Amino acid sequence: MAEKLNWRDEFSDEIINQSNDYIDFIRDVYINGCHINANLKKSSHFHVRINIKDNKVDYMFCNCRKKGNCKHQAAVLRYVEENNLLEKEKDFLNLIETVDDNLLKEFFVEVLTEDHVLKEEFIRRFKKEPKIDSKPYFDKLNFIIETSKGSDYYNFGYYDIDVLASRIHDFLCDEIFELMRMHQYEVVFELLDYIADVLNDEMYVDNDYWYDACDEYLQIAYTLQDTYVLSHEQLDRLDCDCSFMHQYM
Ligand SMILES: [Zn+2]
Repeated sequence: MAEKLNWRDEFSDEIINQSNDYIDFIRDVYINGCHINANLKKSSHFHVRINIKDNKVDYMFCNCRKKGNCKHQAAVLRYVEENNLLEKEKDFLNLIETVDDNLLKEFFVEVLTEDHVLKEEFIRRFKKEPKIDSKPYFDKLNFIIETSKGSDYYNFGYYDIDVLASRIHDFLCDEIFELMRMHQYEVVFELLDYIADVLNDEMYVDNDYWYDACDEYLQIAYTLQDTYVLSHEQLDRLDCDCSFMHQYM
């Protein structure tokens, strides 16, 4: 029997009690390996994302924007636990391992033939597009970094953090989003790695710009990890950048 997920320590008793009221409002829960995505709908709509590592919660997001861990996240974890969803996912992945590769391919083609949306998704994820010239994007990013240097930068190396964080957030939402849409995953990887290098030198700042920029960064990084086009070295590097970004969340 697999070890139970240890999640209750992440929440106060009060939050765990409050999560009771939300269990019945969980609409759907998707589990993909160690990623949990869930939607809740009560008076408003909430999206919860949780990553699991070594039977512990590694990262949590909820769009309710409560500081710290919230009752929606607790409700999803409780639901996952009560329905043994992580164990079922593990059984499913083990089953796939036992199936012959050719049979798996045959089954897969059968499924894709019947589902055009899934077929498009497959092509989007696996087809490598020729890499475009990344220079204009690096130029823009360098311009953002250069013009976000505070008046003390040349003495102390300080950026104007609010300006830097909000411009990087916009860059992630506009340019990087567009590159993801164009399947330019290699270019996105290089830009994300460069952004992590710049932010790495900065101190933790507890404000919304900073939170938004880091959150957007992580969302893109996780989508990128799911594309199957990055090498193991690139994935390791991205993991490292993400774990550094987590400390700001
Ligand atoms: Zn929440």
